[in-house]
Amino acid sequence: MFIGHYAVCFAIKRYEKKTSLGKLFIAVQLLDLMFFTLVVAGIEKFSLQEQYLAASYLKIEYFPWSHSIVASLLWAIFAYCLFMYLIPIRGSKANKVAILMALAVFSHWFLDFLVHTPDLPVLAQNSTKLGLGLWNYSIVSWVLEAAILLSAFMLYIRNTRVRRKRGRHAMLVLVVVMLILNALTIFGPIIHAGVEGFSITAIVTFLVFAWLAARFEQYRA
Ligand SMILES: [Zn+2]
Repeated sequence: MFIGHYAVCFAIKRYEKKTSLGKLFIAVQLLDLMFFTLVVAGIEKFSLQEQYLAASYLKIEYFPWSHSIVASLLWAIFAYCLFMYLIPIRGSKANKVAILMALAVFSHWFLDFLVHTPDLPVLAQNSTKLGLGLWNYSIVSWVLEAAILLSAFMLYIRNTRVRRKRGRHAMLVLVVVMLILNALTIFGPIIHAGVEGFSITAIVTFLVFAWLAARFEQYRA
């Protein structure tokens, strides 16, 4: 899953305003950030195969460190410790925010589970693999991601108000760009950037989204 992960950010931000959208944008994609970084480092592996699945041309070959269910839980605990002990928010809500950041990290695994074909290992690469396989259906995949992202975004918009006129539609523009990008990745041609080029493009995209979300959330209160 790609943009659907960001639905969790808007829902959590709506639930607890002390959380930061910018940090949530990193948290929900932490597993993919790890994955693409480990691919560049030569530790995890995927290949690009035209028409591998209806909605994805990424054939995952090895990713237990970033995407096994056990590793995902450990990354979520890591996020909890980070936000509880190293960079806690000021005030009495540090524990709640740390729990929400951990949930944001683990939500990635659950949403991936819906779309991946059974390639998500329980622990090691040769252990049982899970995945419901919605990526076998391109339109269903795009609609599902768009629906959850837009629903959570509407919740966020309804429960915040414009603080500065300048940039009041900025977050909406970001969401529209995401919807278009997701349509391109699902229905568009394969990107001939090579595995490393694809990985670096993905990492940069995730970081730019997080940076923009951190900026744009200041326009709303
Ligand atoms: Zn993933």
